[in-house]
Amino acid sequence: MAETTQPATVLSITDVTPQVRQLIVLPKHQRILFQPGQWVSLELPVGPRPPLNRAYSFATPGTASGELTLVFDRVVGGMGSSYLYQLRPGDEIQLSGPYGSFTIPQQLDGELLCIARFTGLVPIRCMLKALYAQRQTGSVLLIAVAPAEDELLFHHELLTLAVTRPGFRYLPLVAAGGEQQAVDLTLSILEPLVKSTPKAIPMLCGTKGFVRPLRAYFVQVGYDRKEVKTETYD
Ligand SMILES: Cc1cc2nc3c(=O)[nH]c(=O)nc-3n(C[C@H](O)[C@H](O)[C@H](O)COP(=O)(O)OP(=O)(O)OC[C@H]3O[C@@H](n4cnc5c(N)ncnc54)[C@H](O)[C@@H]3O)c2cc1C
Repeated sequence: MAETTQPATVLSITDVTPQVRQLIVLPKHQRILFQPGQWVSLELPVGPRPPLNRAYSFATPGTASGELTLVFDRVVGGMGSSYLYQLRPGDEIQLSGPYGSFTIPQQLDGELLCIARFTGLVPIRCMLKALYAQRQTGSVLLIAVAPAEDELLFHHELLTLAVTRPGFRYLPLVAAGGEQQAVDLTLSILEPLVKSTPKAIPMLCGTKGFVRPLRAYFVQVGYDRKEVKTETYD
């Protein structure tokens, strides 16, 4: 069923890294109830045939006030992200949702192996926040690949989690050479890990050029395609 489109007011704007911005928005008519990992569709008044639809994942779990947190990077020449970058507090955007099935599996029988490139971390961060708010004690390994050291998203928050939550391991990586380098670097870390540990629950997020080779790797080493949860941004 199609979700209702409604206006939402931009409440605040924060730059979280040099190339990544956070918007907190408040839907005007109806609270959006969602599961961590899901996303909203924005209808942006730009492009040759407006509206331009762009999806953005929830960056934090739902709040009682109904505010939504969106986190996105500035894509060079990207119409949607450029439009979002010029918004100011008080502006309105049209959105609908929630959508999506990239959510925490019902049964966590194995280590959650989350792998994200750049803003692919957004839905995974939301899931981790929800898990740790519920005092989850299972094992989680997060591999987060950024295009530069100062673009490591939620870095201090994740370092703090790694220190305070015994089951949580955080492996930040920097691959300045683009998608293929990010894949190669991730695989070089993954291969010895996957060979020496029992089956994990892989959750991969980012652009297709990053996610697909990693999913292919998991399938090649014996995972069923359905055992590898993915969200692709393009
Ligand atoms: C389910 C879903 C959830 C998403 N959640 C987020 C999110 O939480 N944060 C976020 O930043 N983006 C997210 N995206 C991507 C977002 O919808 C846009 O595609 C992105 O902002 C680029 O749009 P654009 O119009 O600026 O550029 P476009 O002209 O549409 O894109 C140009 C190229 O950029 C690549 N691209 C797509 N997404 C990104 C990205 N995020 N960073 C760098 N390159 C990209 C694609 O290869 C695309 O061909 C999500 C996409 C989907 C499908």
